[in-house]
Amino acid sequence: MLDWNDIIDRGKRGIGVSEDEGLAITALRESEDLQQLLDAAEAVRFHHKADYVNTCGITNAKSGRCPERCNFCSQSAHFKTAAPKFTTKAADTIVEEAEAAFAGGVREFSIVMAGRKISSERDLSTLEDAFRRIRESTGMQTCASLGLMTKPDLERLQKAGMQSMHHNLETARSYHAEIVETHSYDDEVETLRNAKSLGMYVCSGGIFGMGETWAQRVEMAIDLREIDVDSVPINFLNPRPGTPLAEKNDLTPVDCLKIIALYRLVLPTKDILVCGGREMNLLNEQSNMFKAGANGLMMGNYLTTKGLNRDHDFDLIESLGMAIRPPPHAPHPPSVPPAVRAEGTDLAGLTEKNLAVPSK
Ligand code: SF4
Repeated sequence: MLDWNDIIDRGKRGIGVSEDEGLAITALRESEDLQQLLDAAEAVRFHHKADYVNTCGITNAKSGRCPERCNFCSQSAHFKTAAPKFTTKAADTIVEEAEAAFAGGVREFSIVMAGRKISSERDLSTLEDAFRRIRESTGMQTCASLGLMTKPDLERLQKAGMQSMHHNLETARSYHAEIVETHSYDDEVETLRNAKSLGMYVCSGGIFGMGETWAQRVEMAIDLREIDVDSVPINFLNPRPGTPLAEKNDLTPVDCLKIIALYRLVLPTKDILVCGGREMNLLNEQSNMFKAGANGLMMGNYLTTKGLNRDHDFDLIESLGMAIRPPPHAPHPPSVPPAVRAEGTDLAGLTEKNLAVPSK
């Protein structure tokens, strides 16, 4: 039996639920229980994050032909897919994209490159140049997702202006080898620890709906807490044609809300961002992702799939009485003025059974 008052109280004090409580959360099925779960997640989210929403945009700066074999990924050279293939973009192009994202209201910008790791001095110099210029011209929070990272490379990029590092664990340790065949879970963890040791803001989560169990979803959340990541991107599998997971499709919108709420309650003080696959997996429940405990989202297009128009997301945020959070230490005010807080989201009748889930 979960003691919701105690869970909320501990969450507000920054103490996440235990593994056993996490497992009990994943077993919740009834409408009343799900409502209590979302109420608890929202209370903890509001306590730590108020009604500010982190917005993150990315550029796919180097795409395809990746020698790694990650079974969800259309950029792996091991699979025949329609993913774009191009070598590293020029710094000018990356900076232009960052400035356009900033003008469009995005407040964190990540440069993403396919590959096991940064493979050349040329790529490193391009990144240094891009980070310096993006910081100068926009003041945006800068991030990169560049595969496995050594401490010296991270240090160089940090000096140039890279503030955050994104690197997903992808899935739980006990399921990782089923999904990622060419590098290990420990390799991923080492990259995270390298960035943490430099004081970088570390963003790491995974992809849900790849065949993992609920227990494995809890397992990864507990590991992320132990590593002390700062932000957790939650992606829901958008199965890519040509990959080994092309036919996987086993999440309901309620599963997605439960996953978001679970992560909020395991990691009460951290940023929880909803990223890839949210449109096709959350469907009409997208408006409840903040109610479930998320305090951020990725905007615009994803790496190899299209996202919603940014205006759609801004309208949603505004309609909920929430506001875009400015980047830390930046001189720019929030692009949307804080509005009246939306109270009493009505989730009555929310059950796994009564939500229609169209085939995807
Ligand atoms: S997830 Fe990254 S490392 Fe894995 S195949 Fe895709 S691009 Fe390569």
